[in-house]
Amino acid sequence: MSMQAPSPDTPVDADVLIVGAGPAGSAAGRVLAQAGWRVTLVDAQPMGRDKVCGDGLIPDAHAALARLGLLEAVMARAQRVRHVRGVGPSGRHLDVPAHLAVLPRRELDALLLQGALDAGARFLQARFEAPLEDADGRVIGARLRQGEQGLSLHAPWVLLATGAVPKALQAAGLCTRHTPSCVALRGYVHAPALVGQITELEVVWTRAVRPGYGWIFPAPDGVFNIGVGLTESHAEHEGKGRKKAVNLRQVFDDFVAAHPPASRLMREGTLLGDLKGAPLRCSLEGARFTRPGLMVIGEAAGTTYSFTGEGIGKAMQSALLAADALRQHREDDSAARAQYEAALEALRPRYRMYERANQANRYPWLADLLIWRGQRSPRLRERLAGVLEETSNPGTLFSWRGLRRVLWD
Ligand SMILES: Cc1cc2nc3c(=O)[nH]c(=O)nc-3n(C[C@H](O)[C@H](O)[C@H](O)COP(=O)(O)OP(=O)(O)OC[C@H]3O[C@@H](n4cnc5c(N)ncnc54)[C@H](O)[C@@H]3O)c2cc1C
Repeated sequence: MSMQAPSPDTPVDADVLIVGAGPAGSAAGRVLAQAGWRVTLVDAQPMGRDKVCGDGLIPDAHAALARLGLLEAVMARAQRVRHVRGVGPSGRHLDVPAHLAVLPRRELDALLLQGALDAGARFLQARFEAPLEDADGRVIGARLRQGEQGLSLHAPWVLLATGAVPKALQAAGLCTRHTPSCVALRGYVHAPALVGQITELEVVWTRAVRPGYGWIFPAPDGVFNIGVGLTESHAEHEGKGRKKAVNLRQVFDDFVAAHPPASRLMREGTLLGDLKGAPLRCSLEGARFTRPGLMVIGEAAGTTYSFTGEGIGKAMQSALLAADALRQHREDDSAARAQYEAALEALRPRYRMYERANQANRYPWLADLLIWRGQRSPRLRERLAGVLEETSNPGTLFSWRGLRRVLWD
């Protein structure tokens, strides 16, 4: 880590330096720029980069986009979807209604970054290497690299929004676990003949993908996002995490063979580009959230939900929480960090619920049981919709006790 005490007259390049221009970084950039902050957004990739993702926007993403004033622009391009369809190993399914949509990340992230630029943020393509610190160890900027050139940017606040790859977190001294929580693989398939036939966000539990799930999400323009995600992808061995011997491509092929709509999609459609895999960091685990002068936002802070792997909405939500804390306590480092950390902690019960729901990824028969019961119980369907919309408290829904009640009440 770098230790560079600036002279008192070191010029400040921005009020806040945001590293990472994904949903978290761009959301924070937009609201802080709108509040009059001088924002510099830095990303190692150029604007318009792709991000390996399922591209599903669940209700928390809709809420964050609405707060950013970008929901209309996103929905003008996105494929609207009316239900999450849970499919069990028996083939039985349950549709849970919610505000849902699909927009490929290349387009979504470009819209979000443009939203930050429109509000006055500036964008710089550069790689974060390490924080700059004052003599007391407070972060006061970052050392960056642009091709062969190094440069230092000074700012009173740094937001780290670097996603699931832990290198930047490690360089900032905030990484507590370098292995991801899950890994997932996705492909895009152009299949205009299947438009109107696969219409929901299909999440599929099958013994072929265990512990985990497969999905098919309908995107705009006759394209479908299809993929598999494996939870518990990394084993702990003598205190060190290492990847289990899984071949995600093989799991994908097994999923396609086991789920008839996936077989049909792959048979009748055209795969666009390669299947691509990426890690996920979930359950608010794997990082410290702040240190003096710096806050970690988005997936770098583990904001993605385990069980479903949804993380776009929570990445933006964490960014909005950090931005609120900064605006309220701009000059008070401890108060700003305390407010942000408390706001993330307040979300923890919801993450625990998604951790418990992970049982369905381990034991797909549980998904079948819940689907079977849900088909018969409007009250259970309502509760599941409330959980998805985040309008009701999941309570004990996914605990063994809750499950017993669901089955026999
Ligand atoms: C296969 C797969 C499927 C998924 N499906 C869904 C889904 O359907 N719905 C959903 O909500 N979520 C899904 N997720 C999770 C979602 O992709 C993440 O939660 C989300 O991208 C997190 O946003 P973020 O802004 O925190 O990070 P990111 O979107 O990862 O953005 C991080 C940015 O930081 C930049 N960066 C990283 N290191 C540096 C550095 N050193 N210097 C400069 N820049 C750097 C990167 O280039 C990147 O642009 C999926 C994830 C995977 C892997």
